[in-house]
Amino acid sequence: KLENATLKAELGRATWKFLHTMAARFPEKPTENDRLALKSFIGLFGRLYPCGDCAEHFRKVLAKNPPQTYDRNAVAGWLCYVHNIVNKRLKKPEFDCNKIGDFYDCGCGDEDKNKEK
Ligand code: FAD
Repeated sequence: KLENATLKAELGRATWKFLHTMAARFPEKPTENDRLALKSFIGLFGRLYPCGDCAEHFRKVLAKNPPQTYDRNAVAGWLCYVHNIVNKRLKKPEFDCNKIGDFYDCGCGDEDKNKEK
């Protein structure tokens, strides 16, 4: 079957949006279990991402740059960094990771509620 670049790009955009939003909501003070969950998730993501060539390349990126799970900032910074590695390979502009701030907001409005838990 022919590669469809439009669909591949659409999947990529949706996926990055999800991943960065997840990172932006990762606990500021994660438990060991939170950290393990993130690590496992990324490992499984690298296996299961439906674009096979993308996943294969991303697994190599992950092998060299394992997920940083210390806290929310570490996760968001790490993800921005590895996304930039993919950007570079695809000759896309580099994203300034210092400007990530509130760029990814899930619109869930339940951050404070979660903090109380
Ligand atoms: P995207 O890269 O999809 O980014 C979406 C938006 O996120 C940007 O518009 C920008 O606002 C923001 N952004 C950009 N860089 C960053 C950053 N570093 N941190 C935070 N936010 C940022 N496509 C291929 O053709 N070949 C591949 O091998 C390939 N591998 C991929 C691997 C993974 C894990 C994923 C998720 C996607 C992959 N893709 C691949 C798809 C590709 O990365 C893009 O998603 C797709 O080409 C659409 O690009 P885009 O220009 O819309 O921006």
